[in-house]
Amino acid sequence: MKAWRWHGSGDMRLETAPDPTLQPHEALVRVEALGVCGSDIHYYRDGRIGENIVSEPTVLGHEYAGIVESVGADADPDLCGKRVAVEPGIPCGDCEWCRRGQYNVCDRLFFPGGPGNDGALCEYMAVDSRFCFPVPPGMSAGVAAMVEPAAVAVHTAELARLRPGDTVAVFGLGVVGMLTMQAVRLSGALSVFGIDVLDYRVNKAPVFGADAAFLGHIGGIHDGGAASVEWVMEHTNGRGVDVGIDCTNSSDGLALACAVTRAAGNVVLTGISGAESDTLPVSIARRRELTLRWCRRFLHNYPAAIALIDAGKLDVQSLITHVYPFEKADEAFALTTAYADNVFKASVEW
Ligand SMILES: [Zn+2]
Ligand SMILES: [Zn+2]
Repeated sequence: MKAWRWHGSGDMRLETAPDPTLQPHEALVRVEALGVCGSDIHYYRDGRIGENIVSEPTVLGHEYAGIVESVGADADPDLCGKRVAVEPGIPCGDCEWCRRGQYNVCDRLFFPGGPGNDGALCEYMAVDSRFCFPVPPGMSAGVAAMVEPAAVAVHTAELARLRPGDTVAVFGLGVVGMLTMQAVRLSGALSVFGIDVLDYRVNKAPVFGADAAFLGHIGGIHDGGAASVEWVMEHTNGRGVDVGIDCTNSSDGLALACAVTRAAGNVVLTGISGAESDTLPVSIARRRELTLRWCRRFLHNYPAAIALIDAGKLDVQSLITHVYPFEKADEAFALTTAYADNVFKASVEW
């Protein structure tokens, strides 16, 4: 089969790769669509996310959907012929965290498109059939691939422990930030404030659920970030929001989210800064007795994400701003890396 392989910063090559072999519990998925994720961009550009380093040529990509062409002897035969959204992380099922139901932090999680594992920017994937979620008839492959970031947003809203009437600030209005604003609204948020450093994103924010949006500087609180904090404070009469969420790729997003959150409020860190360690405003967090939660992808969120998209409650379609054919997948990565042409999601479709 054909596969795009990453060889170094900005260097992707279309090559041939061995066809996957099917295990008894697996489904063979013919990949139809793949979304370029911010985490892919860390690998594409830097070859690493913190201590996770890609040292070998690797096929990137984990946000994908396709058609099940065949299944192994132990897999559900009803999947054959169906379009599925694939939950990419396959846990071991046996470690302490898996047994506790926290399979997203499995010790031996297989995650495609990262260190040691080829991803989905290829023609076929063999995957554990239990992680193939059939999508409703009429849902396009591009939209089905967007179930992945939608599931991150649903998990983020879950971790935020929202209550009806809550106010929320979301820093970082990329795809996950935009979906998170919609997800917190579904969980009861009354007022949602969005902050980003790119004006095309700020301009689009009201379409995706922001009551107000601010073109801020995501820097340290004493380094330009203060204006974003002041703006949120003005919009909440100096009280701060009930929930602060960081969906940025910046080392400063978490500090800003803490700075705008009211005493005893909740802060969720969903964005990936790419750094090994970031500065945490411990004094604010302690004095306000903030509850901080880190989001690790998703946990049993695919069925809800699919249903919410199908019901028109989560708009993923409008976030797919660019579609590239498989042969030009490298251009999708270059575009996303450059934040060019007002890109939100660049989708590769076979
Ligand atoms: Zn992703
Ligand atoms: Zn496990």
